[in-house]
Amino acid sequence: MIILKMNDIAHNLAQVRDKISAAAAQCGRAPEEVTLLAVSKTKPVSAVEEAIAAGQRAFGENYVQEGVEKIRHFQQAGATGLQWHFIGPLQSNKSRLVAEHFDWCHTVDRLRIASRLSEQRPADMAPLNVLIQVNISDEDSKSGIPPEAVDELAAEVAALPGLVLRGLMAIPAPESEYVRQFAVAQRMAVAFGRLKAQYATVDTLSLGMSDDMEAAIAAGSTMVRIGTAIFGARDYTKQ
Ligand SMILES: *Cc1c(COP(=O)(O)O)cnc(C)c1O
Repeated sequence: MIILKMNDIAHNLAQVRDKISAAAAQCGRAPEEVTLLAVSKTKPVSAVEEAIAAGQRAFGENYVQEGVEKIRHFQQAGATGLQWHFIGPLQSNKSRLVAEHFDWCHTVDRLRIASRLSEQRPADMAPLNVLIQVNISDEDSKSGIPPEAVDELAAEVAALPGLVLRGLMAIPAPESEYVRQFAVAQRMAVAFGRLKAQYATVDTLSLGMSDDMEAAIAAGSTMVRIGTAIFGARDYTKQ
């Protein structure tokens, strides 16, 4: 007799996908409009393999070196169809590794970084998909640009040959009330709608994590970034 037992990661992924579908249905959107980005930072290759076996293809990494090691591992293993998203803060001296390995970068917040990524993108790779990070609610955060500054940076990014401007990303300040989460998400959706009207390549709003996913999807997010709910709590003591 064959006993099929879903592992934890497959089980968690199924639950997260159900949650996304329910949130989409709730506001009359199709579940396919929302991509699940599995945030695998600090997690071993074996965890990513379990997620792949359960059908997951898009992965998010925060630390350049760690992400590059995983990307190389799966390249050497001959895995195809995977998508790697860099979602951490990016320093200039690490831009080359991102440009040479990742498919997406969610955290472009200045022309200098964008120019470097474009120059360093290898000619034999497709242009790097980029999102402009917007600081939508957190005055203390140094990451992201104010919504008013999006137009100018977007025009500069769109002109760079090694990049494709795909949209916007935000990490809103934690907020427990749905109504407040939705208000912030809607401000992002407005900025996204404006950009989409100007650039044919813009189709992605990376917004929503475990605690604010429903509000983000209701406002129009097209990509939610979920880590802990899929892979379990992170252990930073091993870093
Ligand atoms: C870590 C991280 C996530 C996922 O967070 P979880 O709480 O583990 O779901 C999403 N987005 C960004 C930018 C992150 O750094």
